Amino acid sequence: MISFGLDEDQQAFQDIARQFAENEIRPVTAQYDQTMEFPWPIVEKAHELGLMNTHIPEEYGGMGLGCLEGVLIAEELAWGCSGISTPMEANGLALAPVILGASPHLMEKYVAPMVDKPIMAAYAVTEPGAGSDVAALRSTAVKKGDRWILNGEKMWITNAGVADWYFVLAYTDKSKKHRGMTAFLVEKDWDGVVPGKKEVNLGQRASDTRAISFTDVEVPEENVVGEVGKGWLLAMGAFDHTRPAVAAGAVGLARAAFEHAARYSLERKTMGRPIAHHQAISFLIADMAKDIEAARLLVWKSAWMIDQGQRNTLYASMGKCFAGDVAHRVASDAVQILGGYGFNTEYPVEKLLRDSKIYQIYEGTAQIQRLIIARDVLGQFA
Ligand SMILES: Cc1cc2nc3c(=O)[nH]c(=O)nc-3n(C[C@H](O)[C@H](O)[C@H](O)COP(=O)(O)OP(=O)(O)OC[C@H]3O[C@@H](n4cnc5c(N)ncnc54)[C@H](O)[C@@H]3O)c2cc1C
Repeated sequence: MISFGLDEDQQAFQDIARQFAENEIRPVTAQYDQTMEFPWPIVEKAHELGLMNTHIPEEYGGMGLGCLEGVLIAEELAWGCSGISTPMEANGLALAPVILGASPHLMEKYVAPMVDKPIMAAYAVTEPGAGSDVAALRSTAVKKGDRWILNGEKMWITNAGVADWYFVLAYTDKSKKHRGMTAFLVEKDWDGVVPGKKEVNLGQRASDTRAISFTDVEVPEENVVGEVGKGWLLAMGAFDHTRPAVAAGAVGLARAAFEHAARYSLERKTMGRPIAHHQAISFLIADMAKDIEAARLLVWKSAWMIDQGQRNTLYASMGKCFAGDVAHRVASDAVQILGGYGFNTEYPVEKLLRDSKIYQIYEGTAQIQRLIIARDVLGQFA
């Protein structure tokens, strides 16, 4: 049986997130874009309302919600402002591999407290020389007694400046390639951990992105996440859970751009009629509407699959790739529809265009998603 309807609880989460986005996020989106401050007051309120860390299991005090509930919330928050929603999603990204692999001790010590307090976390995998090519990591951890000595540089880490702890991937045995990578849970305040300056990015400027350097950081054995040599599986396996939410953020941004453009097209007149009545503009609007709908359906399917216990890697990549491209195209067309006003900072769509670009880059670029999709679909014929 197929149903595209939401149950009562899902509807309630969507409604709460939508109202929060409208009443709390929208009024401050331009302000945070300009000041580039971290949106602590918004994060704290979102946490209070139960809109963050929704997948923390019930046995650790969390709500244990599914991926589908997560994407419903993610779309609404990003509709409000993706620069503000990205730090919250990045918490989900840091949590995902930890929930997949961490010991009960680590779950109690680091994850359970996030239910009561708006504690931030970060997923620290990318390095200056290793983004798409994760195998090119240079970070290492060497065993010394009951500790691991961690050295390395991470780059482009969301929440690096505000997180209490980081999920870190490093080589513990380079000769074993992917099987020689181990994941560690590292506290920001430990000796040798130094976050860099906040990066000034094209968009999503409220989000806190930094490099982090690790110099002879002593990590206790108990802070290995999962097993030694299994870090790669955790770091990559997390994306099946988190790419649907990132893609949902792209859908939310696209929806925001579409709404601004549709309204404007009915108000702005040229040659004696609203520009919406020029076919060239109405076709742009039609393409926006259909692409947003298609992106949402792919995202929902990818989330639903993992909630059913099915492998969703292919669909998570399809959704992330499609929704990321849709967000960027829709935001660009929204600027086009607003003409000169679209290019101006007094109107919201230029920010949406700047914010949209990252959806084709982080959590696996648009090209890497296509590699995953091509490998999977061609594999079915090999
Ligand atoms: C704002 C921001 C936030 C981020 N947050 C995080 C975070 O929280 N944690 C984290 O670990 N990382 C994070 N990242 C890193 C992000 O995931 C990487 O930037 C991304 O994976 C791409 O890696 P790269 O920048 O090294 O580009 P590269 O891997 O060098 O790629 C450059 C270009 O080449 C293309 N390319 C590379 N390899 C191939 C190939 N085999 N075939 C075809 N094309 C290819 C890419 O698609 C891209 O267009 C963030 C990045 C940004 C900008």
